[in-house]
Amino acid sequence: MQLAIEEARLGQQTPGGAEVGAVLVKDGAVRCAGFNESEMRHDPTAHAEMVVIRRLCAEEQTSSLEGLTLYCTLQPCGMCTMACLWAGISRIVYGAGREDVHSVYFESRHNNTFDFIRDAFRSDLEIEGEVLAERCATFYARPEEPVPEKDDPAHGRTQPPG
Ligand SMILES: [Zn+2]
Repeated sequence: MQLAIEEARLGQQTPGGAEVGAVLVKDGAVRCAGFNESEMRHDPTAHAEMVVIRRLCAEEQTSSLEGLTLYCTLQPCGMCTMACLWAGISRIVYGAGREDVHSVYFESRHNNTFDFIRDAFRSDLEIEGEVLAERCATFYARPEEPVPEKDDPAHGRTQPPG
């Protein structure tokens, strides 16, 4: 998780990057590390988790990440959780959870990552949260804080989101 935090810091400092870090680990060895590249790549799917999954799968010419653990500074959103399921990742460990940060980082009011995993056909995906949560949460807006303009999905829209 320390390395994921370093990646989040790197993302924060990189133009077009964002402060979510992710690391893929197998048998105690780091296989891939990255941060959110959505703005940099003009790709709303380039969340940190998606970046490391795509990068490692491309490097290894595989679509299966069975046996790997994904560390992420923020609880994975629905898209990234589904990607972990499809990639066959064995374990997810995240830092700050939904309760620790503003709802702007998530897409659904009620469904959370645990619901997706509980309802999945796979029963071998483990998930653990709140690891170094306070440290990780310092990167994000808190529930009671205003949404930073760059993280506001309504920013730049002429109509309020429907
Ligand atoms: Zn995501």
